Amino acid sequence: MNLARFPRRRYTEGETPLERLDRLSAFLDGPEIWIKRDDFLGFFPGGNKTRKLEFLMADALEKGADAVITCGAPQSNHCRLTLAAARKEGMECHFIIEERVPGTYSERASGNMFLFQLMGVDSIRVVSGGADMTAEMEKTAAELRVSGRKPYIIPGGGSNAVGALGYVACAEEILSQSFRKGVSFDRIFTTSGSSGTHAGLAVGLWANRSGIPLTGINISRPNSLQVPLVEKVARETARLLGIEEPLPDSLIQCFDGYVGEGYSLPTPAMTKTVVLLARMESILLDPVYTGKAFAGMIDLIRQGFCRKGEKILFLHTGGVSALFHYQKYFDPELFPEDGRR
Ligand SMILES: *Cc1c(COP(=O)(O)O)cnc(C)c1O
Repeated sequence: MNLARFPRRRYTEGETPLERLDRLSAFLDGPEIWIKRDDFLGFFPGGNKTRKLEFLMADALEKGADAVITCGAPQSNHCRLTLAAARKEGMECHFIIEERVPGTYSERASGNMFLFQLMGVDSIRVVSGGADMTAEMEKTAAELRVSGRKPYIIPGGGSNAVGALGYVACAEEILSQSFRKGVSFDRIFTTSGSSGTHAGLAVGLWANRSGIPLTGINISRPNSLQVPLVEKVARETARLLGIEEPLPDSLIQCFDGYVGEGYSLPTPAMTKTVVLLARMESILLDPVYTGKAFAGMIDLIRQGFCRKGEKILFLHTGGVSALFHYQKYFDPELFPEDGRR
């Protein structure tokens, strides 16, 4: 596909590593597990939003914007990376923060909230869970226009067709890396949240005729809501790319059994998996997304969803800066199956 026809800024030098997890694969005695280190993307500590922002910020700049507005939860990696990109481009940056879990917003919190303050976000407006975030962002945009700014709205998670182009590009990066390394993947796993990552990867793998199935692990919604959401963004992304062929019916596959009590709420399997990966592979997962998704993948492996001898790839989407905010949920002494030597 010719992605070069879309305006793009570059926030990462080169490609992110593709690593084989030898110790974990031996421990689980199932498929050969690989990981795509998108936690190494630009704007340290980087993550999947960095790839989406390469296309979103380029679009904003092309439209003459001098301020960006976006939204997210109090520990939003997306907000932090949008702010980082805005600082790099010399633009203003405004947030609407949705307090989905009542009482969780605090200006003095650590993790990403500390980084919002450190990087000097231009404004934060907090709204309660369930608010119409699009309308709230429009309100801020109207205020900024009155004061002479040219605002550009980036949707939650950067998940629209323009942002998803970052993961169409990532699908192509994975395919060329796997060719150069001589490793053919039987399946790829990703976290499925606001959906741009899942949708972009799905379209990229399909449009390149890779034949590699993609499995999403939900971190907030049941399949009845998540699958249509990802399908919608996938269709819009395909349309932006000029693909006329309809997407195959079964392209978007999700598992929703690993959300626990809800978005951002810790589960025992998440904490156990974060500890396991830290001790066995020196990889830091995050508590909200990759910890739950990796826990889901391990459970699916144990249920026989992937066979021994298969090669599978997990996309590490980043998020480590939120980990520090969740320290109270980790008591490493509780985990006997911990991989220490
Ligand atoms: C936002 C985010 C995700 C989810 O990606 P979506 O494109 O929103 O589905 C996964 N992992 C991390 C660390 C994130 O910050």
